[in-house]
Amino acid sequence: MKRLWTLRTILLLPPLVVVVLAAVIGLVTLYQLKLQFDDNRTRQAHYMALKLESARLTEGVLAQQQQVRDALSGAQERRLDELSLYFIHSDVVNALADMKQRIDYFEQRPEIMAANPQHAGALGEFFDGYRRFMIMATDIIAIDPLTADRYIHSAHDHFTSFNHLLFLVGANLLDHVQQMQQRDAELIEQLYWRTLLLSLLALLLVYLVGRWVAMRLSGCLLTIAAAMDRLGRQPHDPPEIPEIDRLLDRVHGEIHAIAAAVDQFRTSLIERNAQQERIHQLAYFDPLTGLGNRRLLLDQLDKALRAIERQPQHCALLFIDLDLFKNLNDTLGHSAGDRVLQEAASRLHGAVGSEGLVVRNGSDEFAVLLTELSAQSDSAADQVRHVGERLLEGMRRPFLLEGEAYSLSASIGVSHADSPLATADQLLQNADLALFQAKASGRNCMRFFDEAMQTAVSLRTRMESELRVALRERQLCVHYQPQIDAGGQVLGYEALVRWNHPERGLIPPFEFIPLAEESGLIIELGQQVLEMACRQLAAWQSQADKAQWSISVNVSSLQFAQASFVQSVETVVAETGANPHRLKLELTESMLLEEIDPAIDKMAALSRLGIRFALDDFGTGYSSLSYLKHLPLTWLKIDQSFVRDMLEDSEDEAIVVAVIQLAQALGLQVIAEGVETEAHYQRLLALGCREFQGYHFGRPAPLE
Ligand code: C2E
Ligand code: MG
Ligand code: MG
Repeated sequence: MKRLWTLRTILLLPPLVVVVLAAVIGLVTLYQLKLQFDDNRTRQAHYMALKLESARLTEGVLAQQQQVRDALSGAQERRLDELSLYFIHSDVVNALADMKQRIDYFEQRPEIMAANPQHAGALGEFFDGYRRFMIMATDIIAIDPLTADRYIHSAHDHFTSFNHLLFLVGANLLDHVQQMQQRDAELIEQLYWRTLLLSLLALLLVYLVGRWVAMRLSGCLLTIAAAMDRLGRQPHDPPEIPEIDRLLDRVHGEIHAIAAAVDQFRTSLIERNAQQERIHQLAYFDPLTGLGNRRLLLDQLDKALRAIERQPQHCALLFIDLDLFKNLNDTLGHSAGDRVLQEAASRLHGAVGSEGLVVRNGSDEFAVLLTELSAQSDSAADQVRHVGERLLEGMRRPFLLEGEAYSLSASIGVSHADSPLATADQLLQNADLALFQAKASGRNCMRFFDEAMQTAVSLRTRMESELRVALRERQLCVHYQPQIDAGGQVLGYEALVRWNHPERGLIPPFEFIPLAEESGLIIELGQQVLEMACRQLAAWQSQADKAQWSISVNVSSLQFAQASFVQSVETVVAETGANPHRLKLELTESMLLEEIDPAIDKMAALSRLGIRFALDDFGTGYSSLSYLKHLPLTWLKIDQSFVRDMLEDSEDEAIVVAVIQLAQALGLQVIAEGVETEAHYQRLLALGCREFQGYHFGRPAPLE
């Protein structure tokens, strides 16, 4: 059964009990006192009335004696006649009879009996003796005064005894009253002590009840305080608090409300933690692999660098990139790619174990942060190398995809820090650069960031800012390389950008195109090349022998991906007055793979203007060929790497043959680039190729 314990009850109960008890005890005591006093007063009144009656009896007897004495002296002196004496006699008889009645009544009063148990009855006897002699005396007073006098003396003797006894009775009566008063006083004292004792008992009871209630209350409050304390100590993992559950079952009122608030507080802590956990999970973890993400890496990197400030040690950052992962994604689809990423993540995690943190840094790139490495550079490098080798080893094991083994490898770039001056940005940049080096050295290996790499970084940074200046100051120019038909006639030119550096002279594109692509400057660069090419086309327009020439312009993937790409080409064509039918755009396979539909839309829009498309470096991409038939292409451009070795390498020749046949099957034209010799030319002619570009016909050069 639930008990109702509200604070109000708890606080009001003790004073209430005190008041009620005090009132009960007070009323009972007062009532008893009143009864006692009433009883006393009544009894005392009775006793006093009896005492008065005894005095009156004595007075009456004395008065009557005096009357008899007067009668006697009257008889002796002959002043009274016989009749008068007779009347006196009958008066005396009547008075004595009357007095006898009063004495009998007096004598039988319970108070008299109680006060004089030994004298009860004696009064009446003495009075009877007196009365007898008095009656006898008055009877013969007229005849024989002398005898009467004797009788009067005898009566007086009896009266003396009577009076003495009456005095004793009165004294006993007073004694009795005194005893009664004494008893009353004792009773009052008893009452006083009893009241005092009862009050003390009541107070003790109240104290005990109050103490019990207070202990219960403080017990509840202490339970709540202990629960709060535990919650306060473990806010991130609030413990179970069964005491609070029990309290909630047991109590009501304010304590219940407080306990419920604590319970609610615990629930909200749990909810808040879960929410924070979800937020943390979303913010710091990669949903696909379950690994931490780049943000977590940056967080931990920051901590690792601060730890270096406190204690000499190394930390290392490893960037791990899955080699040619894009191929796998393109050929087997994204879900297969996702499975490989998950498996790779678990292998990396297994290889690193508790030695470091593994995160997914980006699409197919992972990172490992190793902290608390030795303070000695050599041993730290050894520690890192061991982990790195385990990672590479793990990645080399074939991945099982739908029952098929798929081989993959990874490249690792390592940067490390042992100085408090190192910054996270620097470490990330260095690891990136080392990774780049690992890729450049043929993949499937690990490279440490070193000074040479640092120099390269600085150079790159300098070059990027110089390239910005170059674009602003129009230092870029275009060299044109001829494209020839089967009869040796010039069909047009490929526009190939050069950087006319004020100090370094002419810089070839492979030195700055990758940088321009990474920095986004390729968009502006491509725009400038397109403008120059279009202006050239417009210039040829008026020259009859050149009006048919076309110009091929290379388009980078970033440039092509711009939403405004179609618009900007249209604008350049319109502004320069170039004939769009003479403009060819060279795309590479990779830029068409991401999202094929928008690419087709863009190409179709430009095709409607008359612009045509060639697929550059064809054969080096890894994508399925099925998309080719959906693209509004005119040429496949056989990559120069196949052409270069086709005469010696039968596999390269087979690829060249396959490309030519594929183009024929799809109704496309083929142009071979990298045609360096007559032998290449003849062989390609024999294989059915009809358009050519290469040093054999002319190197890229400025137009005269
Ligand atoms: P690409 O578009 O495949 O251009 C052909 C490259 O092959 C040119 O190199 C050209 O000089 C070279 N080449 C032509 N014939 C021969 C030959 O017989 N033997 C050898 N060994 N090489 C030959 P270049 O001019 O150095 O350009 C390199 C790459 O730079 C181009 O490859 C293209 O991808 C890129 N590029 C050049 N200009 C631009 C541009 O304006 N925009 C963009 N996005 N990329 C450009
Ligand atoms: Mg090209
Ligand atoms: Mg090419």
